[in-house]
Amino acid sequence: MNTNPSPGTLDTLVIGGGQAGLAMGHYLKRQGRRFLILDANPRIGDAWRQRWDTLRLFTPAKYDGLPGMPFPGDGLSFPTKDEVADYLETYAATFDLPVLSGIRVERLWREQGRYVAASDGRRWEAGNVVVATGCTQAPRLPDFAPDLAPSIVQLHSSEYRNPGQLRDGRVLVVGLGNSGAEIALEVSRTHPTVVAGKPGGELPVRHGRNAARFVLPVVRFLGLYVLTLDTPIGRKAAPHKLTHADPLIRTKSKDLAAAGVEFVPRVTGVQDGRPVVAGSPLDDVSNVIWCTGYRESFDWIEPQVFDGGGRPRQHRGVAADVPGLFFLGEEFMFAAASATLPGSCRDAKYLASKIPVAS
Ligand SMILES: Cc1cc2nc3c(=O)[nH]c(=O)nc-3n(C[C@H](O)[C@H](O)[C@H](O)COP(=O)(O)OP(=O)(O)OC[C@H]3O[C@@H](n4cnc5c(N)ncnc54)[C@H](O)[C@@H]3O)c2cc1C
Repeated sequence: MNTNPSPGTLDTLVIGGGQAGLAMGHYLKRQGRRFLILDANPRIGDAWRQRWDTLRLFTPAKYDGLPGMPFPGDGLSFPTKDEVADYLETYAATFDLPVLSGIRVERLWREQGRYVAASDGRRWEAGNVVVATGCTQAPRLPDFAPDLAPSIVQLHSSEYRNPGQLRDGRVLVVGLGNSGAEIALEVSRTHPTVVAGKPGGELPVRHGRNAARFVLPVVRFLGLYVLTLDTPIGRKAAPHKLTHADPLIRTKSKDLAAAGVEFVPRVTGVQDGRPVVAGSPLDDVSNVIWCTGYRESFDWIEPQVFDGGGRPRQHRGVAADVPGLFFLGEEFMFAAASATLPGSCRDAKYLASKIPVAS
C-alpha cells in the first residue's frame, strides 16, 4: 500500500461526495482545513443520476440549494434528478472542493490515534473522518425474494429506471411509500399493475406550485426544527420514521386507483415461486419491483460505534465514545429532514463547528 499518495496528512477525510459530503466540504473549506472528499462513483452527482429516469424532486428548488449557491431557476419548480446531479457537479467545481471520484473506501480503522481509510491498495490518513455515504447504500429486500420463480423479473427500486426493463404482463409493486407510489403510477401506463401494502399517510393537499408556496414551507419547518431528537414529539416520531414509509407526497392512493392500479395487502412470502398475499400465491405476476427501502451498511468501518440495529450511536452526527468520527446524512440523524437536501445542509453546518482541528 502507498501511504497518502497524494494529499499528505489530512485534518479531515470526508467519505462520500453526495450533497451531504459536498456541504461538509464547503464548511471545511471556509474554515481553511486540510481535507479531502473520497467518493465511490465515477462522477459527482451520480447517486442522483442513477435513480429512475423520470424522477423529480418533491422539494422545490428554493429548498434544494447547498450552502453558498442557490439552486438555479424557478424556486417553486421541482428539479429533475439530473438537474440535481449537474448542480452538485457545478457546486463542487465552483467552490473548488477536493473530491477524488471513483474511490470506494473498503476499510476504515484507527492507528496510533489517527484514522486510516483504504481503497484498492491506497490509503489516506486523517485526524477526523466524516462518513457521508448516504442512507440508500444497501437495498432492503425480504429474505424470501430469492425464492421467486426465475421467470419473474425482479428489481429493487434502486435498479428500476423505466418500464422498458419489464416483461409483458402484470407488475407487482411491493411497498407503498413514495418510490412505490411513483413507480406504480408510471408502470401502470404500460402494464397491468398491483401494489402491495398500505401508505403511511398522505400529504393532505395536492403537491405542486401552490403547495411549494404555502404548505411545503410548513413541512420543511416541522422536519427541520420541530421533529428533532431534542424535542419530545421528535423523539416519539423517530422510531416510527425509521421503520415505516413516509407519507405519500406527490402520487396519492386515489391517483393510483384512477390509473387502474389494484391494491392488495402485504406480501408475506413466496410459494411455488409466486408471491403470497393474504395467504394465497398471486397468479400472473411477471414482474416484481421491491420498493422496500434501504438498510444501513457500515461493515467496512472498524471502530465499534454501532447499535444492535447497525445504526451509528451518535448525537447530531458526533459519534459516541469514538473521538474524531462523525456521521452526516443519516435517516433521522438529528431531525426528520436529516436525510434530505435541506436537512443534510443544516446538519453539516452544525457538525463542521464540532470537528476539532487535528494536529
Ligand atoms: C427516490 C428518492 C427521491 C428523493 N427525493 C428527494 C427530494 O425530493 N428532496 C430531498 O431533499 N431529498 C430527496 N431524497 C433523499 C436524499 O436527498 C437523497 O437520498 C440524497 O441522495 C442523499 O444525499 P447524501 O449525500 O446523504 O447521500 P448520496 O447522495 O447517496 O451520496 C453518498 C455518496 O457516497 C458514496 N459512497 C458510498 N459508500 C462509499 C464508500 N465506502 N467510499 C466512498 N464513497 C462512498 C456514494 O458513491 C455516493 O456518491 C430522495 C431519495 C430517494 C432515494
